[in-house]
Amino acid sequence: MSRILIALGGNALGSTPEEQLQLVHDSAKPIVDLIEQGHEVVIAHGNGPQVGSINLAFEKSSKEHANIPSMPFAECGAMSQGYIGYHLQNALHEELLKRSINKSVATVVSQVVVDKNDHAFQNPTKPIGPFYSKEEAERLMAETGDHYIEDSGRGYRRVIPSPAPVKVVEKDIIQDLVNAGRIVIAVGGGGIPVVEEKNHALIGVEAVIDKDLASKCLADELNVDFLFILTAVEKVAINYGKPNQQNLNQLSIEEAEKLMKEGHFAPGSMLPKIQAAISFVKGKQGRKSIITSLEKAKDAILGKTGTVIFN
Ligand code: ADP
Ligand code: MG
Repeated sequence: MSRILIALGGNALGSTPEEQLQLVHDSAKPIVDLIEQGHEVVIAHGNGPQVGSINLAFEKSSKEHANIPSMPFAECGAMSQGYIGYHLQNALHEELLKRSINKSVATVVSQVVVDKNDHAFQNPTKPIGPFYSKEEAERLMAETGDHYIEDSGRGYRRVIPSPAPVKVVEKDIIQDLVNAGRIVIAVGGGGIPVVEEKNHALIGVEAVIDKDLASKCLADELNVDFLFILTAVEKVAINYGKPNQQNLNQLSIEEAEKLMKEGHFAPGSMLPKIQAAISFVKGKQGRKSIITSLEKAKDAILGKTGTVIFN
């Protein structure tokens, strides 16, 4: 039996509530397979599209209705944790009962401390929300003062700071629940970013933390054996998307670091997963991280597929 942290990719979540509920029901099956095999499972998830649309919806409505406020990113992150956590709880509950597994599941609204001096605050990099044309983006930039960048040939998108996670505020309670055999959903969307003041106040900030890096942080705190990163691809590749693409079955820390330096992993997508995996397995002998697709999760845990990063 192992303790496994599963980081679920945002693209496993679709773009409407109906789509998300369906996709999350599909996602529940391989997760419950792992629980059925006797593993202790903790779940984290992304929120890029969801947090962007929640923020934008309030922004637009606030311009039309005097009594609707615009909503800061920390609060939008909290809403996205509730929204996605609800669907995951709902789907896991059903799948567990169908298999007569007597385990309860809950979402812990999670705050993650970031460093107020993190240089990410001066250099926003995390694309969120919808895509715009260059002209629209320039107009929006002038109107709002927000930052927009060109995102991988797909159009312009708003970017906000993505500081590094330092610690998970609710880690003790998450640990207690996991130790008691409960299934926990935590650090959704990378956690609600907060800075810690000298008087112990935690202040929400305008940022979105990368969920792969926050998952690594929680994995350390819970002393998990496997960090399982489930995304849209079955394996990590070199020369990704090129005719000479080559899928990788396993990577030592040294190999992964070398390929990372050579630029094989795209920033904002595969790079944070590789960074999270390397720093997780470096933390303790015998740890493994697996990057694979949701559909292949069951096979990957049995060593049949995925890319394994090992120490
Ligand atoms: P998630 O929502 O799961 O975090 P991302 O889109 O952020 O998903 O990252 C996964 C994506 O990374 C893949 O779908 C793929 O398009 C892209 N990618 C970039 N570089 C690589 C690579 N070297 N190998 C595999 N996939 C890569
Ligand atoms: Mg991602």
